[in-house]
Amino acid sequence: MMNQRLLIKNAKAVLSEGISEKTDILLVNGKIENIGVGLSDGDCNVLDAKGSYVFPGFIDVHVHGGGGADFMDGTADSFETAVKAHLKRGTTTLVPTAMTASKEELLGFINAYHEFKANSEYADLAKGLHFEGPYFSNSNAKSKGAQKGDIIRDIDFDEIDELLKAAKGQIIRWDAAPEVPNSHRFAKLMKENGIICAVAHTDATGYEAEDGFNAGFSHVTHFYNAVTAYKKREQLVTAGVVEAAYLDENVTLELICDGRHIPEHCMKLALKIKGADKVMGITDATRLACTDEKSGMLGSKTNGSYVIVDDGVAKLPDMTSYAGSICTMDRALRVVCVDYGIDVVTAAKMLSSSPAKHIGEFDRLGSIEVGKQADLVIADGCFNVKGVIKNGIICE
Ligand SMILES: [Zn+2]
Repeated sequence: MMNQRLLIKNAKAVLSEGISEKTDILLVNGKIENIGVGLSDGDCNVLDAKGSYVFPGFIDVHVHGGGGADFMDGTADSFETAVKAHLKRGTTTLVPTAMTASKEELLGFINAYHEFKANSEYADLAKGLHFEGPYFSNSNAKSKGAQKGDIIRDIDFDEIDELLKAAKGQIIRWDAAPEVPNSHRFAKLMKENGIICAVAHTDATGYEAEDGFNAGFSHVTHFYNAVTAYKKREQLVTAGVVEAAYLDENVTLELICDGRHIPEHCMKLALKIKGADKVMGITDATRLACTDEKSGMLGSKTNGSYVIVDDGVAKLPDMTSYAGSICTMDRALRVVCVDYGIDVVTAAKMLSSSPAKHIGEFDRLGSIEVGKQADLVIADGCFNVKGVIKNGIICE
């Protein structure tokens, strides 16, 4: 990649501080070298953006697969298939997410990641690992969502030790329910290992959530979905994770931006209370994303759950629960900017800078700034993704 120069002319650049019209962005050897007006195109390849939006590359911190592959398939090929499918739709970095599964399958997921990172030319697209489970609340169907109830289990520190060793420092985040036994010890252990501990698939009351946040839980997974809010429990009215997370200013949130899981007012409320720096847009995409399939397996092919696609979202066959999404980051952009009318700079924070901060990569990724990696997304005036640039190279 020696002396590879690409000049993007006439972009509507979506910068952290606002939109910069008629802007040129010079990319040299995979990095953003200069941003300005009327930059010289001497010995550069030139891409005329013709006034299109140029966003920082999208970063998806919660995604299970796409293009027919699930990371739980446990092969390096499945990682490559999924990251390539999402790259075309604007995801330049993603964190592969594991479902609730047996220890053997979780080890298979970890090993496939290592193999993919060591051998694939697309290795740079995947960054770290996210464990969604298996230590959740099994108390009701709502908190379980599409996680498999028969293998949701108590926190097992021997199992965690084995998985941590196998992962060799690559786990970025681990989700659990804060009301299950030993969850506070779990949160402390995560902190000691530099892993973000997130609340997910939970039936916690507001007090249990607050105690969890005080013990080290610092993020809520797919906020509003499979977490609790104000409700009546037998004869008592209780608050839930939603209210406790709103009251704790350190807690960050993620929202599934498929236009199905999160209604417009809920997204706007989260942005108003937390600010876009603490709210990230995710896909939670399953293998069915980026395909025309109408049904398939959520999780591994052998031990996953059969799900169907209906009205643009994955559901359990009995329709009792959404079961992940078929969302992609380009759709997320359209939902945020077009369907919900949220401003473009806020959208860029949700889809790029906030997730970059979450995974500790904001010094390198997540905004259009000189010195950062040249990962960019070009979108037309209707927010359709028209081009993706990864490491300064236009993706075909
Ligand atoms: Zn998920």
